[in-house]
Amino acid sequence: MASTYELGHQPLSVATATAALLGAGHEVRGVDIAVDTLASADVDWAERVALSVPMHTAMRLALRVVETVRARRPGLAVCFFGLYAGMGRELTVTSPADAIIAGEYEAGLVAWANGVDPGAAVQLHRSEGRVPVRELLPELGRYTRLVIAGEERLVGSVAASRGCAHRCRHCPVPVVYDGRVRRVEEAAVLADVDQLVAAGARHINFADPDFLNAPHHSRRVVAAIHRRHPDLTFDATIKVEHILRYPDALPELAAAGCAFVVSAFESVSDSILRCLDKGHTAADASEAVIALRAHGIEVRPSWLPFTPWTTIDDLVELFDFVVAHDLIASVDPVQYSVRLLVPEGSLLLGETTMTPHLGAYDPTRLGWTWAHPDPAIDRLHAQIATLVEARVGQAPVQTFDEIDALIRSSAGTSSARPAQGAVSVGPIGDRAHFTEPWFC
Ligand code: SF4
Repeated sequence: MASTYELGHQPLSVATATAALLGAGHEVRGVDIAVDTLASADVDWAERVALSVPMHTAMRLALRVVETVRARRPGLAVCFFGLYAGMGRELTVTSPADAIIAGEYEAGLVAWANGVDPGAAVQLHRSEGRVPVRELLPELGRYTRLVIAGEERLVGSVAASRGCAHRCRHCPVPVVYDGRVRRVEEAAVLADVDQLVAAGARHINFADPDFLNAPHHSRRVVAAIHRRHPDLTFDATIKVEHILRYPDALPELAAAGCAFVVSAFESVSDSILRCLDKGHTAADASEAVIALRAHGIEVRPSWLPFTPWTTIDDLVELFDFVVAHDLIASVDPVQYSVRLLVPEGSLLLGETTMTPHLGAYDPTRLGWTWAHPDPAIDRLHAQIATLVEARVGQAPVQTFDEIDALIRSSAGTSSARPAQGAVSVGPIGDRAHFTEPWFC
């Protein structure tokens, strides 16, 4: 059982899958290739290898792992499981996995380990509420930490739900879950948090695609965790639409120790937000920042600045938004270099807004290529991506200034930045953040 990348956290997917396989009587070894190397002895020992692929980066790395495994044991059965398992199935020249299990993978993995070929399955039936088994994984101290109030805290990642009720067109979740949400049993989440706390965690990351997809369940879970561990902080991902739809949840989350909320703002162009079917406008995003801060919760927006529809003015407006909402210190600079991914099965395929921009499928990058109608925007993206990579470790504020200058000079605009915090002012001092910026 191996993980390649899970946003810098101890991989929940492997812990969950391990619980299912041990429960079915199988022997399991776990390795996280994000922090360890795959030992030849483990490859020699295994009768089967299951690779967790919950996101695009994980899937690309997993393809390399399969090469390593197959070089040593050409006949060893390999399975991909997780959100990205099926992406690359049709269009990658030869699929390196014998089995593919997307969605609710536990039962499919057990069946596969028992010798039943699940084919290329998307499974959405409810999983048993087993408590993830984490003993086979590296300790929490080897993963990303939360920086908060001048100290670093160990972090454990759990999920109260999987799937999503929404169908944003650029997102891989609806490709598998098609608007469905699967709750994780409350008792299993609580027991997982208990064992993470016992292992030293002082902050919990909720890895749910959206924490308020099942609002009553999530609020119950968070309240129960707070009763058991009153000093624990947590973060969760919540879409703008939900932040505004459930205002009464915000004080509850704050009181239960919410350190920050990640929210996929993506763009401040309403036409791009419509192309992506995000269900919010730029004005809504502004309102969400203000609503969260009214309860002392800081937002860490994620952005998708580079799409086929992005204009240079959109980029200037995005940077103006960040400044006017005092968010410079709340955004990891890598977010400014994110370019739209169009994987196999993407809901954007077939959209009239997307079709004219598409090129060939790139099997090494596991996605459809696309070009911006204005090559200058693609060049600007490449410049920003290079700059962000070269500035790893530099203070985000400084990197922001450099990118901001690049964008404004490309726009040929003399328009000055708005005053910092002109619309909303955030907390003074360091904002809570992880030691490792994440990307999908
Ligand atoms: S972007 Fe978020 S809200 Fe939209 S479909 Fe994906 S997980 Fe759901």
